[in-house]
Amino acid sequence: MNDSSNCGCIFCKITAGEIPSKKVFEDDKIIAFHDIKPMAPVHVLCVPKIHIDSLDDIKSENIGYVSHIFEKIPEIAKTLGISGGYRVVTNIGENGGQSVKHLHFHILGGKKLPLTLG
Ligand code: AMP
Ligand code: ZN
Repeated sequence: MNDSSNCGCIFCKITAGEIPSKKVFEDDKIIAFHDIKPMAPVHVLCVPKIHIDSLDDIKSENIGYVSHIFEKIPEIAKTLGISGGYRVVTNIGENGGQSVKHLHFHILGGKKLPLTLG
């Protein structure tokens, strides 16, 4: 779904341009923008322009959006100046710490990241 009038989702509103974001990349399928509460010197979110709740909801019908994100992440990382190393994370559900229920991939970098993951 990408009609934010039928969806209270904040990332649908951002992809529809109804809420401003600090955009670093956009095309017909995805948008990438700076996280509002950065957890690293560089913290960007990469978001598909259709509503997918989480990685649990990836299907053959929407996998094109997800593969496109992974195709573009190295390009986006290069423009952010973090190609020397970075981390890509997606949180799933309550125990996974997902606070926005629209699939997104965190791109974190700009320093040597801590090795703690869980
Ligand atoms: P998660 O906790 O994995 O669901 O990640 C959601 C992320 O979205 C958090 O890191 C928030 O800081 C970020 N976030 C929430 N609202 C906005 C917004 N309006 N613009 C940019 N980032 C946001
Ligand atoms: Zn959404």
